[in-house]
Amino acid sequence: MIVYGTGSKDLGEKLITNEKCPHCGEFNKIHLHGIARYFDVFWIPIFPFKKKIIAVCHNCDTEIPKKEASPSLIDKISLEKSSFKIPIYLFSGLILIVLAIGFFQYSSSKHKSFVESRVENIQKNDILVFKHNMEDYTFAKVDSIYKGAVFFKNSNYSYNKKPSLSDYNKALIDNSDFFDSESYYYTINEIDSLHKNGVLDIFE
Ligand SMILES: [Zn+2]
Repeated sequence: MIVYGTGSKDLGEKLITNEKCPHCGEFNKIHLHGIARYFDVFWIPIFPFKKKIIAVCHNCDTEIPKKEASPSLIDKISLEKSSFKIPIYLFSGLILIVLAIGFFQYSSSKHKSFVESRVENIQKNDILVFKHNMEDYTFAKVDSIYKGAVFFKNSNYSYNKKPSLSDYNKALIDNSDFFDSESYYYTINEIDSLHKNGVLDIFE
């Protein structure tokens, strides 16, 4: 369940001089109060949607509605409105959303360029290392790429820890039957997914 709603933030107050209260007739008792209204989700402000300035007489504690305010008071209210600043944290949710979108775009473009360089550029004679489980790794060698499929030959030898390219070069010299004669294939998408899941490594 998502808890959402609206909240109010007091933006402070300011005395307005040379104005008379229409209720009690006192001079220099009218203060402007700034209020920001904002949306919140789980009590975290997402963004403000309204800034309201009200005029209150501090002598008789009455809010002065616009229709009772003098034209000069109305002018002063609109002049002072911009001096009531909305604090940046009322935009917290919006800022987080923008940052999250930016991060997502950054990481997906980074991933894409990685995939492009490693998986989409896969070519004949590239060496693959499959991880079958924690203690079982095998080499494979790319035979050909055809219509989005990667054909490869599996090695007949397995390793109990992740082998390096020099393990490969050494094994190739020592064992004439290092690769099986059967060809297998994965689609490029399967190669990409195995690669993403850490099951497959590619040596170029
Ligand atoms: Zn008053």
